[in-house]
Amino acid sequence: MKSSQQIIAMRQSLLDWYQREGRTLPWRIRPEDRAAGVMAHPYEIWLSEIMCQQTTTTAASAYWHKFLKAWPNVADLAAAPRDDIMTAWAGLGYYARARNLHKCAKVVCEQYGGVFPDSEEELLTLPGIGLYSAAAIAGICYNEPTNVVDGNVERVISRIFCVETQMPKAKPEIRILAGEFADPQHPGDYAQALMDLGAHVCKPKNPKCGDCPWELECTAHKFDTMVDYPKRKLKTERPVRYGAVFFIKDAGQIWLRQRPDKGLLGGMMELPGTEWTEVKTDIDGLLAQAPFPGNWLQLDSEVKHVFTHFTLFLTVFTAQISAERFDICANLNMLDIYALPSLMRKAIALATQPPH
Ligand code: SF4
Repeated sequence: MKSSQQIIAMRQSLLDWYQREGRTLPWRIRPEDRAAGVMAHPYEIWLSEIMCQQTTTTAASAYWHKFLKAWPNVADLAAAPRDDIMTAWAGLGYYARARNLHKCAKVVCEQYGGVFPDSEEELLTLPGIGLYSAAAIAGICYNEPTNVVDGNVERVISRIFCVETQMPKAKPEIRILAGEFADPQHPGDYAQALMDLGAHVCKPKNPKCGDCPWELECTAHKFDTMVDYPKRKLKTERPVRYGAVFFIKDAGQIWLRQRPDKGLLGGMMELPGTEWTEVKTDIDGLLAQAPFPGNWLQLDSEVKHVFTHFTLFLTVFTAQISAERFDICANLNMLDIYALPSLMRKAIALATQPPH
């Protein structure tokens, strides 16, 4: 814990640093502008906050300018066809943000007369505005002493206090600690200063502690354990599964079948195959699951495919029988018309590659 005197001193050193080193961004009202009476525009700040989620400020800047040119205010955006907004958003990713942008603009116009609500609480009720955005807009535009916590802020605070709880469980604890620092007098500048500190000084891998205004107050820096925070679970190794597929050919035709609708790769096409198991089955066990007993040839190489939750190794067997017996008879030269997942395309490529 920090004493109230330490907290006041830390706020001030951060604000001083921000005055000197803080970023200049197209939508940002810097402390000197604010002192000169310039006010942040809620529509512009809202656009920037939504665009900057999962996007760099550099990429977001171009879109921010484009949107303001096409739709200079929230009423223009609300009145625009949604398809136009989606087209303008193309390339920025996470398209739910664009859909919510339009929804939010409509709500602001229909329920708030085209003026963004001026409290964190009400902002939170708008489509696409979450805890972080509501706090940021209320702090920056309306000087509400909010507690703005994004991933950058979480990293800084977890290092200052060496928060030992693992993420994401540590989030509420970090939020409380961050809240003690939030500046009641300069909430907007303070929030932007802290986010800048996280983005450009307290970096995930190489924090530049020598440039940090909080260097002397930082517990992780004191023990040289900066990169250990925030604490995260060690990545566990991806489990492995094993199976086999049977590449059955008759001249230029191969045997395909369709996977059941439910489950992984549901409804996609596949080569006939075995179950996928956690323990490797021996050759006899695999061949017992072949569509017919026969003269199976096992390929030397296996297919390796990485799914999100496991890695699969498939043994490939080949054989030849009359196409009359095939479940689905697919022309090898026309496989593009079948919904074959890349796993199966890898297996087919392996089975059809010319011998070395
Ligand atoms: S001293 Fe280093 S680790 Fe601590 S807050 Fe500053 S940049 Fe981050």
